[in-house]
Amino acid sequence: RAKERGGNRIECFTTTLNEVSLERQELESCLREALQNDELQMYYQPQFFMDGRLAGAEALLRWNHPLLGTVPPMKFIPLAEESRLILPIGEWALREACGQMAKWQAISPTPLLLAVNVSVLQFANGDWDACVAKALADTGLDPKCLELELTESMVMRQDHEDLVPLHRLREIGTRIAIDDFGTGYSSLSYLQRLPITTLKLDQSFTAALQSEDPQTSSENIVRAVIQLAHSLHLTVVAEGVETEGQRDMLELLGCDCLQGFLLGRPLPADAFEALLEFMSTKQFLKKGGRAPEE
Ligand code: C2E
Ligand code: MG
Ligand code: MG
Ligand code: MG
Repeated sequence: RAKERGGNRIECFTTTLNEVSLERQELESCLREALQNDELQMYYQPQFFMDGRLAGAEALLRWNHPLLGTVPPMKFIPLAEESRLILPIGEWALREACGQMAKWQAISPTPLLLAVNVSVLQFANGDWDACVAKALADTGLDPKCLELELTESMVMRQDHEDLVPLHRLREIGTRIAIDDFGTGYSSLSYLQRLPITTLKLDQSFTAALQSEDPQTSSENIVRAVIQLAHSLHLTVVAEGVETEGQRDMLELLGCDCLQGFLLGRPLPADAFEALLEFMSTKQFLKKGGRAPEE
């Protein structure tokens, strides 16, 4: 009986694997058509300075499939990378977001930053920096308003000459962020070597900031990271801020910018624009205007 059960289990396991690979293949062919069929959309999650001013937005890809519904990035980005579809998709995402932000700069009283995620395949592609520069030129977005998000693992292993595109982009004013900072291998020496401007503290660190006591070990780690970043003249953005307690602690620890569900979820372009208009009015009022009703 034991043998029988074991046999069944293996069979079940095999069936599951086949189903998974079938689903992946189907997903991949759907993804291949997603761009043409206009199923991809950019969402924008607001980022704020500690004093509450709007700092900018991170552009995040969404895939709305007519039958599958909303496919989360965690599911389709790895697939897009394996199939190299991330190259056309990533380029579309960059151009779409830059075009959108160029329009928003025109109605915003202060310059806003647009953060765009970059895949390792885009980064490794020879003409990557030219591609970014062209997207900026074509959309009219000021290079200083673009922040490219790379991960630690992408930049850590690169030789000096592989980093030339990064230096070129930095030279035209584009900002470079390390996303999910603290989750990769941390040989911290690369922070000095690379032309980066920003550390995005991974949301696992933010999540660990639960206590009221500024002396617990997670608070100490975050404080040390912020001090290190500031000593290298880097800006620190905390990701995944969900509670008032986390926000207060991050303020106490000297963090520069916040991003998270507490302050705002990723929004479609029209909803982000409404937020922008609302924030602009508030900022105008702060500059000396008076609230109509108080
Ligand atoms: P990421 O770049 O680290 O983006 C932050 C993720 O955290 C987003 O998930 C965002 O919706 C989520 N998030 C923001 N605030 C909170 C919060 O308070 N709590 C929690 N639990 N989550 C929060 P999303 O949009 O599902 O994206 C997941 C990942 O997919 C991104 O992580 C990024 O690595 C990748 N991705 C998204 N868009 C693109 C893109 O255009 N290109 C590339 N290459 N990757 C992308
Ligand atoms: Mg990111
Ligand atoms: Mg991140
Ligand atoms: Mg992440």
